[in-house]
Amino acid sequence: MSTSVGEPAFDNVRKLINDVCDRISIAEACRSRLLECKREVTVHFPVRMDDSTVRVFAGFRILHNDSRGPAKGGIRYHPDVTLDEVKALAALMTLKSAVADIPYGGAKGAVVCDPKVLSQNELERLTRRYAAEITLLIGPETDIPAPDVGTNPQIMAWIMDTFSMGRGYSVPAVATGKPLEIGGSRGRFEATGRGCVITALLAAKHVAMNAGEATVAVQGFGNVGAVAARLLSREGCRLIAVSDSRGGVYNPKGLDLDLLSAQKKETGSVVGFKNAETITNAELLALGCDILVPAALEHQLVKANASSVKARLIVEGANNPITPEADSILSDNGIFVVPDILANTGGVIVSYLEWVQGLQFLFWEEGEVNDYLQKILTKAFAEVLQTSHQEKVDMRTAAYTIALRRLAAAMALRGIFP
Ligand code: NAD
Repeated sequence: MSTSVGEPAFDNVRKLINDVCDRISIAEACRSRLLECKREVTVHFPVRMDDSTVRVFAGFRILHNDSRGPAKGGIRYHPDVTLDEVKALAALMTLKSAVADIPYGGAKGAVVCDPKVLSQNELERLTRRYAAEITLLIGPETDIPAPDVGTNPQIMAWIMDTFSMGRGYSVPAVATGKPLEIGGSRGRFEATGRGCVITALLAAKHVAMNAGEATVAVQGFGNVGAVAARLLSREGCRLIAVSDSRGGVYNPKGLDLDLLSAQKKETGSVVGFKNAETITNAELLALGCDILVPAALEHQLVKANASSVKARLIVEGANNPITPEADSILSDNGIFVVPDILANTGGVIVSYLEWVQGLQFLFWEEGEVNDYLQKILTKAFAEVLQTSHQEKVDMRTAAYTIALRRLAAAMALRGIFP
């Protein structure tokens, strides 16, 4: 099983690209290029485990498109990750960078493994070997990894170090989402969650919802979900439910985030939190609330459960959490969706800022980084909303429209086949 729960993830993204290309005038050569990934690499590599046995792991690195600049995209460690899913995620990165109008293309990588059962030493050996296997593909000018599900700043540090060993000097701009001590950016760890909150507040204003009184449910309490939950609470929202891979917790009066984070740190899960009722992930998605933030994995809202959603606003923290069929049901039910390629773009925006800082060896204060993020995302949100109104399409179609026009313009200027 893939983390996309058996759905053909890349086909879904391709369908959206195709549908939007049908609607707008785009050269066939551009469409054909965007329907495929430029480079797909699978590696199988050995790792010595702590008990001295050797296990062979599979990994991927996909470059979808680099017409607008070097390819950018995270690395996922998950036992169910598939090549198809990584291709879909790489394509989303291309679109996302174009929506945010930053000079990047799209890429994604993964290793089929369960990081939760590996020791720190095993994780380091696995990461260094994977980095060595893809070292010819990555680099500050070509393809720049970042964290995704199951990876973190420490893993980015090992990737940066392995790549730098091959060069003989430090190359901070080869990966983003690194620890501050080795060229990470202030504000990067929180960037994706912060971006979700920026777009959630803009969307709330648009649908005339008072965010200060809104109730919120967040699926996934990892990097994106936990930060989004915290920052939404700071805006005055009442966080009534959160979940992780083991299940969820619900309290209509609100959850104490400090206590909840402490429990997650101690036990590895939000489940069992004593000031709340235990619920399933399926129940969380169907809760009566104002804002729903799916921030876990792909395809959580599908045809079978989309009609049970009661939220007024959905902000896609995760990539691809809603299937196309579910999307139409939500739209028919009047639910306003901020699509992934806009809502979770904060991560790639601040990765871009980290890369710029790394190339210059000049590092900024957190306020400067956050101001840039706010500015870029506010502009992107306004452009998507305007296109949605002008062309009478939903926010996802509008975001794809903007991205595909920008990509087509870049390809045309470069001569279609750079
Ligand atoms: P993470 O590994 O830090 O957290 C993932 C969370 O989801 C964990 O709490 C995990 O327990 C939970 N989870 C896993 N399976 C689940 C399930 N079936 N039901 C409910 N919860 C489940 O990962 P992350 O970096 O926060 O990424 C989450 C999503 O956001 C992914 O779709 C990722 O591609 C996307 N994203 C991440 C970034 C980033 O900067 N980290 C940027 C853009 C998009």
